[in-house]
Amino acid sequence: MTSADPATWNAGDFHQWTRPPSTPCPGCSCCTATLCATAAARELPCVAVGRSADYDLDRCPCANLAAAHRQLTTAAASDPSNPANAGRWTTDEAEWLYRQRNGFLVGAAHSLARAGVPVGITRDPADPHPVVLTIDLPDAGQVTWHLPDHDYRLPPAAPWDGHDTTTKYARLTAWLAANTPTTTPATP
Ligand SMILES: [Zn+2]
Ligand SMILES: [Zn+2]
Repeated sequence: MTSADPATWNAGDFHQWTRPPSTPCPGCSCCTATLCATAAARELPCVAVGRSADYDLDRCPCANLAAAHRQLTTAAASDPSNPANAGRWTTDEAEWLYRQRNGFLVGAAHSLARAGVPVGITRDPADPHPVVLTIDLPDAGQVTWHLPDHDYRLPPAAPWDGHDTTTKYARLTAWLAANTPTTTPATP
């Protein structure tokens, strides 16, 4: 806890109000368990749920991981190159969906970077989409996507580890399953 979170207030000589001390969030060092769970349930950053005058929560790893989880779930569901979506869309539909997917991937990358997950880019000049967005999902492995040429404001990444698309989606599915945001506060 870096925030002021008094369990007891004293007012004057003898009036005293007490409340039970808050349970710290197991996933971060900035919030209570209730705050992170409420923020995840409302799909808001912790800073929008907590008292921003007291807390410095915009980098809360729990909120950023919850946002990345939503964005990566949507990206996977709308990615025409996901083997689970094979044959689902026409070429025209797929082109539009790739653009939508790319937006979710870049949003997720920035949320993950704020949560301390290694994220960056490498370049593959021979590819028409030369930017390789690279995410090292903790305990799941590296996942990469080719993106159009653009400055995504991400640092250089480790080289591609040779995984194929099937492995990428198996890793992503495993990470999503293991990192479902907690939306109910832990009981003390
Ligand atoms: Zn937390
Ligand atoms: Zn939080």
